[in-house]
Amino acid sequence: MGEELTRAMARLEKICAREDNFKEALLRLRYPAQTTAATIPVRRDDGSLLMVKAWRCRYNALRGPTKGGIRFHKSVTMDEVITLGFWMTIKTAIADLPFGGAKGGAQIDAASLSTRELEGLSRGYMRAIVDVVGPDRDIPAPDVATSGKPIAWMADEYFHLMRRTEPAVITGKPVELFGSKGRDGATGTGAAACLETMAGHLPFKISGASAAVQGVGNAGAKIARELAKRGMKVIAVSDSGACVRNDQGIDVEKLVRHKQETGSVGGLEGAQTLESAAVLDVETDLFVPAALGGVITADNANSLKAAAILEVANGPVDPGADDILAGNGVVVIPDVLANAGGVIVSWYEWLQNRAGEYWPADTVHDRLKAQMKKSAAAVSDLSDNDTRLRDAAYELAIKRIAASVDALGDQADY
Ligand code: NAD
Repeated sequence: MGEELTRAMARLEKICAREDNFKEALLRLRYPAQTTAATIPVRRDDGSLLMVKAWRCRYNALRGPTKGGIRFHKSVTMDEVITLGFWMTIKTAIADLPFGGAKGGAQIDAASLSTRELEGLSRGYMRAIVDVVGPDRDIPAPDVATSGKPIAWMADEYFHLMRRTEPAVITGKPVELFGSKGRDGATGTGAAACLETMAGHLPFKISGASAAVQGVGNAGAKIARELAKRGMKVIAVSDSGACVRNDQGIDVEKLVRHKQETGSVGGLEGAQTLESAAVLDVETDLFVPAALGGVITADNANSLKAAAILEVANGPVDPGADDILAGNGVVVIPDVLANAGGVIVSWYEWLQNRAGEYWPADTVHDRLKAQMKKSAAAVSDLSDNDTRLRDAAYELAIKRIAASVDALGDQADY
């Protein structure tokens, strides 16, 4: 088992140690079902040849066809892909979707490629994994650097290879090409619905409370808007270049426009511009990491001045920080629950494709909110401690997975 997967499993192992009947489910979950490794040749515009390492891991298919994004980033490794596949298995179980977990990736700095080269890589990636994907087998989706055209190219490549148009093979497609309305912003919308459902666990009233948001991309911009809509005062927002702060509250719409126009949050009128990491020092009711993993660690957890954390990013709190935050009474609404909005709407896209339908945006939003509230309530019901909602979320996942194993009996081949 790789180092990253070992660390990710540690949280689940802690829960499973409490109950004997989770032991087998845990053993099964230690091992990915199937990992495909490939090297993709990409012809560069200057005529040279680039060989790109890539992987697709179908982590666990017990609860349904496997589901998870594809990431193009220079730091992608096989261990990371497998670990993210494990997380997706947990996430789909918590959201109660009829899917297992998967993930894919290619080790490349996508920004270094021209549009033509990116198309070559996207199509080559689909050719490399065509034998393991399919609407009833493994359904990829976007992740870092694959939103929009890369997913459209992968879908198109699959249609050509299979000689049929089968849109349900991949989600996150453009709305004009079998995609779902409401996919953009789904993660922020879902996270806000989750926060509302968890109101009873928070040491403050949502309306009137303060919030600091790290990251103002697809997920961060939407959650900042949703918090403002609920009467929260967004007092700090950061991106990779800067942090802007105003303790009287930032106009979120103005901030998002400023970011779109200038490419940075820095220099926003009516707010102080600080260095990016300053967002971690803000005294606030709610801190929302919506950018990177591993931003709160055992080294800085004690200096965090937030009463609660809503994890919109994947893995923003390092396992080493869990006990410190709990000891300080910080309520953590975990990523595996809070950021499931994207995969939930991916499920709706798959359902629409299979039925040959397009749903109105309102239908997607209403179903998403109801679904998020249902899974947040299930986690809330299981938690006996406000500061350990992550444990309750993992317990819910392992309960559901163990129940599926039980339903098959001890010869279950998963
Ligand atoms: P994105 O690329 O649209 O936005 C990322 C944002 O993070 C950008 O504003 C960028 O400037 C900022 N950022 C980068 N480095 C930073 C730093 N050092 N400090 C502060 N900000 C920094 O990405 P996204 O789709 O919004 O995803 C953000 C996080 O949410 C990721 O962890 C992702 O895995 C997670 N997530 C996203 C979705 C989704 O549907 N978009 C779903 C589940 C989880």
